[in-house]
Amino acid sequence: MRNLSISFFCTLLIVFATSAGSAQNRSEINIPDILGYKTLKCDFHVHTVFSDGDVWPTIRVQEAWMDGLDVISITDHIEYRPHSQDIDADQNRVYEIAKPLADQIGIILVKGAEITRKMPPGHLNALFLKNANLIEREDWWEACVEAREQGAFIIWNHPGWKAQQPSTQWWSEHTRLTTAGIMRGIEVFNSNEYYPETLKWADEKSLTIFANSDLHTPSGMTYGPGKGHRPVTLVFATEKTEESVKQALFERRTAAYFGDTLVGERRFLTPLFMNSIQVRNVQTRLQNNEIKTIRIYNDSDITFRLKKRQPSVGFSGPASITLEARRTVAVDLEGTSEEVAQMPMLRMYYEVSNLITAKGERLPVNLEVPNK
Ligand code: ZN
Repeated sequence: MRNLSISFFCTLLIVFATSAGSAQNRSEINIPDILGYKTLKCDFHVHTVFSDGDVWPTIRVQEAWMDGLDVISITDHIEYRPHSQDIDADQNRVYEIAKPLADQIGIILVKGAEITRKMPPGHLNALFLKNANLIEREDWWEACVEAREQGAFIIWNHPGWKAQQPSTQWWSEHTRLTTAGIMRGIEVFNSNEYYPETLKWADEKSLTIFANSDLHTPSGMTYGPGKGHRPVTLVFATEKTEESVKQALFERRTAAYFGDTLVGERRFLTPLFMNSIQVRNVQTRLQNNEIKTIRIYNDSDITFRLKKRQPSVGFSGPASITLEARRTVAVDLEGTSEEVAQMPMLRMYYEVSNLITAKGERLPVNLEVPNK
């Protein structure tokens, strides 16, 4: 009897040890580092029961880890707290609850809150706050000024949300916010909505672009295997620290990643594409009227869809190429003139239809294959 209870106790210990440590899986997001920066995967807009979300703060941290993220900000509504009869806490409490777990599992948790007003100015996320209680003001302008005083980075959330404005419109209040150096960012993607019309504002007003989930329900109800990845803001940071993330946001070093689309400045998208692919050339020099096969490997999780934008000199390649994520594709090149045999480099001119530049255009890329 005694032995039995000891072995039962041991079994229990093993079960607890397993469930406490390694029960969860993390889906890594494979997107390369570029330009000496680390490519951090971030979501700066999620909710919990401390406003109108359905989950406890630590669950947001656990989900972020499982979804392959490096950084999140819990941005509960300052002015809208429908669970306040059950959860009576100040505006800083949600961060205090989530922070120890974030530190333990290596997620950078940015202290944030959502200033929630009718349009204009609509909903604004304030990130890197010191004291969220001080943002609770009658006057939205005073709330924004207070956030700026605390060194916060402020984003205009879902500017194209139809419930707030039927057509996506820039208001004089937003000019006031940008002129005062308060509003620095804009969501070009929120939840499942893309607002391409906001790209020109980001360009003209030097706003940092974001793709955020705005999750209220558990992440797994919407995203995960078979359902697609959650929206991610890629941040190109000097290192994986909160200070580096903050600096990157102020310096506009981001790209918005949602579905199979990536939106960002050319200076980031070009190296991101180039660092993702390897052109493997195993055959001998291309001759006129011959076919040579090259292999292109895509090491990233983004499938790239290439369309030819102008013909090559001396040979012809496919009109379109799909570089599937984590796959190698074989591409046939056919020599179409005698001069091709003398060319040291074969150049192909494509555009990537799912990589969208800050100007709203498809990213042009040149593929080069040594011809030897
Ligand atoms: Zn929100």
